[in-house]
Amino acid sequence: MQDPNCLFCKIINGEIPSTKVFEDDLVFAFNDINPAAPVHVLIIPKTHIPDNNHVTAGDEAFTGRMFTVVPQIAVQLGIAEDGYRLIMNTGRHGHQEVPHLHLHLIGGQPMKHPMG
Ligand code: 5GP
Ligand code: ZN
Repeated sequence: MQDPNCLFCKIINGEIPSTKVFEDDLVFAFNDINPAAPVHVLIIPKTHIPDNNHVTAGDEAFTGRMFTVVPQIAVQLGIAEDGYRLIMNTGRHGHQEVPHLHLHLIGGQPMKHPMG
């Protein structure tokens, strides 16, 4: 299910353009518009869910998939061997800007430290 007013739902359905890195039945991954490092990908579920506070046991298929696609995207983008950060921001104190669940995959050097 999608939210017609959600930025990332619009990216999934192509209403807003993005550089797609990966897609399957449950998740979509694309380059962050304001990268914190040479590789900065956002991995999002195709189902609209605002943030991690809304995740329930019924969401385990797509939340699990958000993590299990990471190794293959990391190989695809050449950051598997040297490593990367996975970050998920939640809410105001977590500095979440876009209210559609997303996992940041950040790799390469130089890398802006995510803790500011
Ligand atoms: P948050 O702070 O919510 O965890 O991260 C949201 C991320 O979405 C930010 O890193 C920001 O650069 C990225 N972003 C915001 N708007 C767009 C957009 O229109 N296109 C893309 N590709 N990334 C976006
Ligand atoms: Zn959405």
